[in-house]
Amino acid sequence: MERPSSEVIQENRDYTLFSWSVQSAANPIHMTRAQGVWFWDGDGNKWLDFSSQLININVGHQHPKVLEAIKKQVDELCFAGPSFATEPRGKLGKKLAEVTGLAKSFFTLGGAEANENAMKIARLFTGRDKIITRYRSYHGATMGSMTASGDPRRWPVEPGIPGIVRVFDPYCYRCPFGKTVDSCKRECVSHIEEVIQMEGPHTIAAIMVEGITGSNGLLVPPDDYYPKLRALCDKYGILLITDEVMSGFGRTGKWLSTQHYGIKPDIVTCAKGLTSGYMPLGAVIVSQPIADYFENNMLWGGLTYSGHPVSCAAAVANLSVYEEEHLFENTEVQGRYLAERLEAMKRKYACVGDVRYKGLFSVLELVRDKATKEPLAPFNGTSPQMQKLAGYLKSKYVYAFSRFNMLWVCPPLVIDREELKYGLDIIEEGLALVDEMLAA
Ligand code: PLP
Repeated sequence: MERPSSEVIQENRDYTLFSWSVQSAANPIHMTRAQGVWFWDGDGNKWLDFSSQLININVGHQHPKVLEAIKKQVDELCFAGPSFATEPRGKLGKKLAEVTGLAKSFFTLGGAEANENAMKIARLFTGRDKIITRYRSYHGATMGSMTASGDPRRWPVEPGIPGIVRVFDPYCYRCPFGKTVDSCKRECVSHIEEVIQMEGPHTIAAIMVEGITGSNGLLVPPDDYYPKLRALCDKYGILLITDEVMSGFGRTGKWLSTQHYGIKPDIVTCAKGLTSGYMPLGAVIVSQPIADYFENNMLWGGLTYSGHPVSCAAAVANLSVYEEEHLFENTEVQGRYLAERLEAMKRKYACVGDVRYKGLFSVLELVRDKATKEPLAPFNGTSPQMQKLAGYLKSKYVYAFSRFNMLWVCPPLVIDREELKYGLDIIEEGLALVDEMLAA
């Protein structure tokens, strides 16, 4: 007989720690099963997963082809150490080289470890120490990746690792240089050059940026941002590392979000959509010159589970689902509808200050006043209005990620028009409630 949900939740709370939570305030949903864009809780409620869990379950829940590949690999060979060659490891490396235009992959267990290793590889390859990152960024919760993040989540672990230098972001709605996108001279890039000069170009190994910033507000850069950043890196012999953990693998309709901008990074890190979360896996994908360097120089790094055969098999199957089921095309088509709806919300609701999107990667930035752009909740804080919105979505069983004054809409890439409309209609009902609160 199935145990009551309350018992399962209590056991989880009694014996496990929940991330990013004051434990007494953790309020987990007991998930019992899932399919496609939906999951069910222990009380039988059906939830729309408008967040793809942690913006990772891109092919949707319980995809039969990925499940089958995992089962087959478990039966054949469940584990091989990282110094062994296996069929799925080689296949996956080859596929990643093909879709990114880079050369070789080093496998990790997730995104934070991928960024740790990318920074280490950049330091080994260049012989330089410093890494430039951006303030509005998240690169993972291990010590190095957490320091590399600009996000407030780094504050409790400061001072963290040495050698991280932070710069401002291409945040056009609230330009840190007080400009507008039409009249600016891309100070978001030119000030990086000034920072490089002040720090000493010969000391800087890499600039590491999220392909498109995810959990700090979906900051879609202007079209010429990446070409300018690439040129800056080339000018000073600095490597460009793009963290595609959240923005990669179809989330924006392409393998990598930087493919929208026609540039090639020197190192790409990825995780999440690499396996759609079915197995833990991350990768550091490096260019040919970096791969060549390690032909005759030691790669000082390793992990017991690097190249785990079951994770690699899950990734190979997951990547073929993207292609066989034309999920990037679906992302583009549904993404166009999502964009139209978000733009309409911006026109209709007083509390919607800005909407930003690329494919099925999107955010609504909420304000108290469109003219002053006063945020609906303070940076690193919340407000009764944000809590009302989040509570309303939960009451309607729409699972969506909200943080500070922002609400993300990032459904699995298999979503259809009807499912997308269903979720967006409920979000609109929530926005109407916020507008009512603001008008009262
Ligand atoms: N990089 C980015 C852009 C992320 O969004 C995340 C996680 O949300 C990470 C890195 C860390 O990945 P993981 O949680 O797999 O360590």
